Amino acid sequence: MAERQQFDLVIVGAGFAGMYMLYKAREMGLTARVYEQGDDVGGTWYWNRYPGARCDAESLAYSYSFDPELEQTWEWTERYATQPEILTYAQHVADRYDLRTYIHFNTRVASAHYNEAVNRWQVTTDTGEESLAHFLIMATGCLSVPMVPDIDGLDSFEGERYQASMWPHEGVEFSGKRVGVIGTGSSAIQAIPVIAETAGDLTVFQRTPNFSVPAANASLDDEWVDAFKKNYREHRRYHKLGLSSGFGDLEIEPRERTPDAETSDGLTDEAFDAIFEKRWQRGGAFFLGGVADTLINETTNRRAAGFVHKKIHEIVKDEATAAALCPDSHPIGTKRICVDTDYYTTFNRNNVHLVNLRENPIQRVTPTGVQLVDGHVDLDMLVLATGFDAMTGALLAIDIRGSNGQALADKWAEGPRTYLGLMMAGFPNMFAITGPGSPSVLSNMMVSIEQHVDFIVDTLSRMQAKGEARVETSLQAEDGWVDHVNEVANATLFPEGGSWYLGANIPGKPRVFMPYAAGVGAYREVCEDVVANDWRGFVFS
Ligand code: FAD
Ligand code: NAP
Repeated sequence: MAERQQFDLVIVGAGFAGMYMLYKAREMGLTARVYEQGDDVGGTWYWNRYPGARCDAESLAYSYSFDPELEQTWEWTERYATQPEILTYAQHVADRYDLRTYIHFNTRVASAHYNEAVNRWQVTTDTGEESLAHFLIMATGCLSVPMVPDIDGLDSFEGERYQASMWPHEGVEFSGKRVGVIGTGSSAIQAIPVIAETAGDLTVFQRTPNFSVPAANASLDDEWVDAFKKNYREHRRYHKLGLSSGFGDLEIEPRERTPDAETSDGLTDEAFDAIFEKRWQRGGAFFLGGVADTLINETTNRRAAGFVHKKIHEIVKDEATAAALCPDSHPIGTKRICVDTDYYTTFNRNNVHLVNLRENPIQRVTPTGVQLVDGHVDLDMLVLATGFDAMTGALLAIDIRGSNGQALADKWAEGPRTYLGLMMAGFPNMFAITGPGSPSVLSNMMVSIEQHVDFIVDTLSRMQAKGEARVETSLQAEDGWVDHVNEVANATLFPEGGSWYLGANIPGKPRVFMPYAAGVGAYREVCEDVVANDWRGFVFS
């Protein structure tokens, strides 16, 4: 057996969460080892290289805030950064702070077992490395385990087959090819317009239509950026505390992004449409912030959905295609709203066809294409943009065992249970960054990642100062938090969405609304109050 190396921290994952955790650990003088299964940093932005991949939070907001010099010197070129630009940014950060020295790439953590006797985590990897860590930090990502659909005959396809979230680094040539895309979530909605530009023929296989709003992407103007950066600190404060959960809708003047109306009650159709028309033209995911109660009031929600339906019918020329593209099975926003560039107009192209799988389901994939109940679609290439085993997938892919050998998979058999999305009772000295039960995927993730890492750092600093060796959360605190997360979710329309937020996209996965829906500002207040009350709900020894 290889000799176990010892570290203060083992960090799993080298996306933005793992990188920032490593930076802070080094700053504290702690020893740290990061394991990353990819061959470079960047996480999401390393793996998801499909055409059209870009951020849906504005670049000046979707970036680290921890170093004012970094944010002043890095130059974003577009309102929404492309995947290559974000990956270059991640690589720049790794170089700037010499992070790669501490990261073992091409190394997947297979198991992590807590050894009570020595109060250490024993970590093993698929390359045979073994290490002992005082603290185990899971920076494994909320959307890092691709969902490969269980479609009959998929492996029999003899053409080229790609998964959006495992895109080949060398790129893919679509010219003149007959391409099929399965899925119409955020990834597909970004990829479809770009693929359509060069594909000979593109067939989109849609099971559930999604709501999509225009990004209104544009190059950033140097003068505008200079003016914005003068107030960067103040902007960041709003992103961390604000109602917009850090998404953006950026203007030079830092300010809270307030809705135009508190409710749709009493608003005429003209007044209501004027609010959303302004947001539609402005572009971006903050569209739904037009009226404050869109995600809690069914009437407001229905009216907002109706506005988008009208837009789809205005844009898409073929009436049947427009009707099929209109989402009618979930309230708007209860599945992640998509942000696109030319998605709906793409269906006006002669080389693009929509197959409505609800009327004409896939029977199986064949060596030459897709067999529908009614007809066969001949394909040279099949692109699966079918999503992820979100939020719990990457954690449960590792054999994690806490006190008394309890497996995380057993603890979470009925769905994830955490305190603040950060710790689980029975798993001492183990933290999850943006774990289930925190705002995570409902926020600009950079904001949530930094907040969690800062919380962990404060906790470790407290332990250093007090000579404490072990921290865990109590079962009581965890139960209370899980109840609260459910209560907040149940006061919204989110549970009606049937989305991956609920685990609904994975057959057999427990249906639990996983993110905390009260927003980053409210969540930050809770965390600060916890710390102010001597880390209420945490037990130190
Ligand atoms: P990740 O970036 O997912 O990194 C986790 C890393 O852990 C991965 O590199 C993975 O390989 C590694 N890993 C996992 N398990 C193991 C293991 N067992 N052993 C070793 N390594 C492991 N968020 C936004 O806020 N705005 C956006 O616009 C946005 N766009 C997105 C677009 C796409 C296509 C996707 C998929 C997600 C998007 N997200 C967006 C969410 C995005 O995941 C986060 O913004 C952020 O990048 C997450 O960083 P992370 O470090 O927490 O996780
Ligand atoms: P997704 O939203 O889960 O979409 C998956 C799509 O695949 C859905 O349309 C789904 O249809 C379809 N699908 C799955 N299995 C299928 C099957 N067997 N047959 C037919 N269709 C099937 O996944 P995603 O698009 O990768 O996005 C996931 C999340 O990543 C987003 O919500 C967002 O948070 C993030 N993301 C963000 C951006 C961005 O704009 N920056 C871009 C990409 C991803 P059903 O709905 O019917 O299941």
